[in-house]
Amino acid sequence: MSFYTKVLIIGTGLAGYTAAIYAARSGLSPIVVSGLEVGGQLMNTSDVENWPGEPGGIIGPELMLRMDNHTKEFVPEIINDYIVSVDFNVTPFLVSSEKNKYQAESIIIATGSTARYLNLPAENNLRGKRLSACATCDGFFYKGQDVAVIGGGNTAVGEALYLSNIARRIFLIHRRDELRAEKILQDRLMAKVKEGKVDILWNTEVKAYIEYQGKFKGLTLINKIDGFLYDLPIGGCFMAIGHTPNTAFLQNKLKLKEGYIVVNGKSQTLETMTSTSGVFAAGDVADSRYRQAITSAGSGCMAALDAEKWLQLNNR
Ligand code: NAP
Repeated sequence: MSFYTKVLIIGTGLAGYTAAIYAARSGLSPIVVSGLEVGGQLMNTSDVENWPGEPGGIIGPELMLRMDNHTKEFVPEIINDYIVSVDFNVTPFLVSSEKNKYQAESIIIATGSTARYLNLPAENNLRGKRLSACATCDGFFYKGQDVAVIGGGNTAVGEALYLSNIARRIFLIHRRDELRAEKILQDRLMAKVKEGKVDILWNTEVKAYIEYQGKFKGLTLINKIDGFLYDLPIGGCFMAIGHTPNTAFLQNKLKLKEGYIVVNGKSQTLETMTSTSGVFAAGDVADSRYRQAITSAGSGCMAALDAEKWLQLNNR
């Protein structure tokens, strides 16, 4: 099918949904394309405790369901589609998926980022089979078992805390001797360490996955200080080692830095505009620094306001 719109919004994480609400309320009737991961990163997040106005916190998928319902008050249909190519040299811009073509006067890219894995042998076979990047989605299967979480950031500590209510014992495996997670999360983690629910394996890296007849059985680990190599038998492993921005379809189309879309920033009036006039970016896909739920939503709002301004200035 072919579509035409003044504003095409690609992505339905917090940035995309917020951009959609703002663009729709300014009368721009945006078309919103959801991408593969409807709801974005927060669908893989357990407790979100720093979303203002939600005392006691809210679980990620619940927040995204509310965002979806809220968006649908203003945007009747969100198209489930996966964009594979863009042409920014034509007016209107042309964006294509396998099945649809979208002509758009302006575009807001909010495709977010995807959880990273370690890139070790057998990983592709084991993904989804006891190797996961989402404790909220898969933690339930590990009741009474020992599991590992890899990483030392907010995600890793959040996942370890979530799993500590389900699994028997959690090994948090971190490559350094200090965590980068927020202090409040670290304090909670240390309480779980005292309880004997969590063990932190400091200065430790995963060398290999142990598998038997295609099934995940544990990890081979190395202590980076003394070089000690050993096997850790566990029921499952959760990756929390950061994210890669979803910009593969934008290679050589927009200015990128380490994979993230470069936007104008504070020095210019249209802060969220990319290297192509009329193309805007919001959320994690353009943010290597803050990457918070609230900053994602905020930048989605900014991108919608910038797109509206740009359309006016360019008589579109
Ligand atoms: P992150 O802060 O980038 O942390 C990634 C962790 O993985 C780091 O501890 C890093 O180790 C480790 N790591 C990276 N590559 C590795 C590798 N190849 N092998 C082993 N370990 C590796 O990522 P994140 O925890 O996903 O957080 C991303 C952003 O989302 C942050 O800004 C965070 O604040 C935010 N976030 C917020 C919330 C919340 O507000 N509720 C929840 C989750 C995430 P080093 O420390 O040695 O670099």
